[in-house]
Amino acid sequence: MGEAAVSADVLVVGGGPAGLATAIAARRKGFRVMVADGAQPPIDKACGEGLMPEGVRALEALGLHLPSAGSFPFRGICFSGSGVRVEADFPDGPGLGMRRTALHRALLDHAARLGVILMWGAHVQGLDANGVVLDQQIFQVRWVIGADGHHSLVRRWAGLDRYRFDQERFGFRRHFRIAPWSDYAEIYWGPGCQIYVTPIAPEEVCIAVISKNGRLRLEEALLHFPEVRSRLRGAEATSGERGGVSASRELKRVFRGRVALAGDASGAVDAISGAGLSLSFQQANALATCLEAGDLSRYQASHHRLVKRPLLTTTLMLAFAGHPWLRRRALSALSSNPALFARLLAMHVGAFPDSGLIHGVLPLAFKMLRNPSP
Ligand SMILES: Cc1cc2nc3c(=O)[nH]c(=O)nc-3n(C[C@H](O)[C@H](O)[C@H](O)COP(=O)(O)OP(=O)(O)OC[C@H]3O[C@@H](n4cnc5c(N)ncnc54)[C@H](O)[C@@H]3O)c2cc1C
Repeated sequence: MGEAAVSADVLVVGGGPAGLATAIAARRKGFRVMVADGAQPPIDKACGEGLMPEGVRALEALGLHLPSAGSFPFRGICFSGSGVRVEADFPDGPGLGMRRTALHRALLDHAARLGVILMWGAHVQGLDANGVVLDQQIFQVRWVIGADGHHSLVRRWAGLDRYRFDQERFGFRRHFRIAPWSDYAEIYWGPGCQIYVTPIAPEEVCIAVISKNGRLRLEEALLHFPEVRSRLRGAEATSGERGGVSASRELKRVFRGRVALAGDASGAVDAISGAGLSLSFQQANALATCLEAGDLSRYQASHHRLVKRPLLTTTLMLAFAGHPWLRRRALSALSSNPALFARLLAMHVGAFPDSGLIHGVLPLAFKMLRNPSP
């Protein structure tokens, strides 16, 4: 095996959203950065394609302002189910729906402009005491970032495959040519599955189904959601169906030695949260700050701080998903008190930093106990 010269300070394994954002953040701190990804761009992936407002802001902090052409701002979230519909606006500006490939293109163009070295079709084969093994060569680098997704090999190679908890569901998405019928991202709650609808362009929506059943495809799931089904009647499908694993997973550690993890490689929140991309971009900013300080141990604490809030709200949503009686009561409680829904949403997107439990979850529990479902 050959030994390549030191070619970068930071080598990022995986050029998905988390890897590119981390590369951009590190480059902006003055590091020489390389990204290696086994795929060719623009990379597509099963995703609901809704970026929460804090994700938009995290990208802006990286100097990336996403184009308004080919995207669609949404003002908040709508829950629909058990005969009830309730919506709430984000407190700090809209989220953004955007095709995954368009987001990838925007990220990689920005990375290239900043001077990040991008290697596509480049499968990383292992870690070495001095760096990584790529194309039968050892690339010596100071830091290795594993942003290689849900099935991360970097995580395994670094001995970081130990979890506090790990739950998997499955998601499938498809695009349809139709003008969005709502300026909210909608979540429809049904028996054993949820459908969510994200407006992603003036004439296109992304529809995703999530459930514990890896064989439940969109067409079958839509039978439970006549409202969405009738809206889509006659609309042309603009993509094939694409599936992926939607995990809720917290790792015991997200770094070891010179290796740190970002994005889905570092743990995840279920897709229903719509928070995966935002977390990836926030982690990128936090990680670059720790690289600059030369201290990856700080990243552990920053990472935990970033994930704990969405993990809490997602746990709540998964409880609704798993228990129909709880879901009925919760939806009824939220629709009779939309301000409470707005507070929970604000908590989900970080506008109630650490007092979320008191402002959101406890009042909801209290309301649900007092008001039985209709
Ligand atoms: C059905 C579904 C719906 C979702 N909806 C939303 C949503 O609406 N909003 C939201 O914010 N999040 C959503 N998510 C979550 C979001 O998609 C993920 O959090 C996000 O893709 C994580 O990005 P990543 O860069 O960490 O991983 P990935 O996008 O998986 O990228 C990992 C990259 O690593 C590369 N790679 C892997 N191994 C190697 C190797 N050995 N060498 C080189 N390259 C390698 C891969 O080619 C890939 O490009 C959803 C997820 C699912 C499954």
